[in-house]
Amino acid sequence: MADYHILLLGPPGAGKGTQAAKLCEKYDLDHVSTGDALRANKEMETEYGTPRSFMEAGELVPDEVVNEVLAAALEEANGYVLDGYPRNLDQVEYLDEATELDDVIFLDVDRETLVERLTGRRVDPETGENYHVEFDIPEDEAVRERLIQREDDEEDVVRERLEVYEENTEPVIQQYRETGELIEIDGTGTPEEVFDRIIDAIEE
Ligand code: ADP
Ligand code: ADP
Repeated sequence: MADYHILLLGPPGAGKGTQAAKLCEKYDLDHVSTGDALRANKEMETEYGTPRSFMEAGELVPDEVVNEVLAAALEEANGYVLDGYPRNLDQVEYLDEATELDDVIFLDVDRETLVERLTGRRVDPETGENYHVEFDIPEDEAVRERLIQREDDEEDVVRERLEVYEENTEPVIQQYRETGELIEIDGTGTPEEVFDRIIDAIEE
């Protein structure tokens, strides 16, 4: 669907990346992830320094930098699933001027589950694909052996990211809730169960 625009919201570890991949496949959309785009531009020199320093500390990268990254990614995408943005109220305003959204989906997951998902997340450095030490182990031994942990998925940074989320991003969720746009989905259970809930909600 060429012009279908989905926004996926939720705390770090809620399963946004996992569900975005499934939605992109089902509806033939592009995945726009500011986290992925920033990781690919970690060493980019900006007047605030590089994105790396903020990301490793679990802090938000300054809006001016992220907005530029977002604008470039949206320009390349037709239909898309956006994940990782907006993370504060100023970013909501920027997004509102930049594009129109069809569905705004919030993945609701309790804090204990988030910590468990984030600290167990592993990444295949060759494909960028996410796995989990317990919930999603790759079948291929070669892949299993080369998995790495994101630096910001270590427990102390995970706790900082969840605090940054509560302070900056919960007001974003509240705002979309107040405008009546928010589709709230229970994000617990298997990835397939969560996906089915999303599909049921958006095809209703
Ligand atoms: P997760 O999917 O686990 O929530 P992301 O990959 O979305 O993590 O983001 C990783 C890091 O990239 C964040 O902790 C933050 O430093 C930076 N980042 C990503 N998106 C944004 C954004 N919209 N605004 C500010 N910083 C961002
Ligand atoms: P986000 O993009 O919101 O930070 P991810 O999609 O990267 O979240 O998921 C975080 C971790 O949790 C990954 O290791 C992923 O394999 C795992 N995961 C995602 N969805 C589920 C689920 N429904 N049940 C168990 N683990 C999951």
